[in-house]
Amino acid sequence: MTTIAFIGLGNMGSPMATRLVSAGHAVRGFDLSADAKAKLATAGGLGTDSPAEAVRGSAIVILMLPNSNIVENVINNDQVAHALEKNALVVDMSSSEPLRSRALAKKLRERGVRFIDAPVSGGVKGAETGKLTVMAGGTDQDLAEARPILDVFGTVKKAGEVGAGHAAKALNNLMSATHLLVSSEAILAGKSFGVEPELLLEIVNGSSGKSGSTENKWPNFILPGTYDSGFALQLMLKDMKIAVDLADQVHAVSRLSHAAVQLWEEAAASLPEGADHTEIARWVAATSQESLASRG
Ligand code: NAD
Repeated sequence: MTTIAFIGLGNMGSPMATRLVSAGHAVRGFDLSADAKAKLATAGGLGTDSPAEAVRGSAIVILMLPNSNIVENVINNDQVAHALEKNALVVDMSSSEPLRSRALAKKLRERGVRFIDAPVSGGVKGAETGKLTVMAGGTDQDLAEARPILDVFGTVKKAGEVGAGHAAKALNNLMSATHLLVSSEAILAGKSFGVEPELLLEIVNGSSGKSGSTENKWPNFILPGTYDSGFALQLMLKDMKIAVDLADQVHAVSRLSHAAVQLWEEAAASLPEGADHTEIARWVAATSQESLASRG
């Protein structure tokens, strides 16, 4: 049994922390939301009054927060810095920015604290069922130490040194978002021509155009009209921007990627703040209607 601090008990963090409790670990959780902490307590963990209280006495500190700004604010907070055990292992499972993760790892190392990045893919369902893909970056020694904990969440793949996991995650989501956008346009075109979306999906899913969007997002969240995957559009856009920044930094060509980011930005500007990322399909259809109407 390991004592683990878990900070960020949202759509992903909550089921992940619950899995750690079920695996027999002592989980000390913190979130800004009292409801999220109460849910952890019901599952058998301990909801703490501050992040410092969660971190004190924990060998492993897991972060599952919205972005790098929040990760840095939490971990660099004076009380948290003071409460972190010497030689503790910080595991940032959020989808953060690779270069900022490297800088944070260096800063923590100077304080005798170790850091790995281990973002995930697989959505809320994967978090609930322990079927996430964990993309890890760090030293072999630190990853080996974290391994029994990470295994609780799913399949672990080492991407490289610190920051490489965050790079792999952002690039994965750039691809995923671009597939979702182009499938939204293609399915709309098919429907306008007379090919029903269900039938087109069946054909594509047995053909080379298939993707996580056509196999999972369309049948489970878009066609039923629920748009409730549990992954916010703003978070997807954040990941896409991390990926194109990364491409720009290494001077890789990314014209389609930039075009996709621009369209997702337009969608984010016109949809409500907390919209699910699968709403992009509804936005594409609405935009098409508007353009038809303006042509008279
Ligand atoms: P979420 O918004 O549901 O959860 C984030 C949680 O962090 C919230 O409960 C919020 O109250 C808490 N929080 C914010 N600031 C805090 C602070 N200063 N201290 C403590 N708690 C704080 O987001 P999520 O969907 O769970 O995503 C978390 C991370 O995982 C993000 O980086 C996201 O990009 C990534 N991710 C999400 C999914 C998904 O399907 N939802 C999949 C893979 C990766």
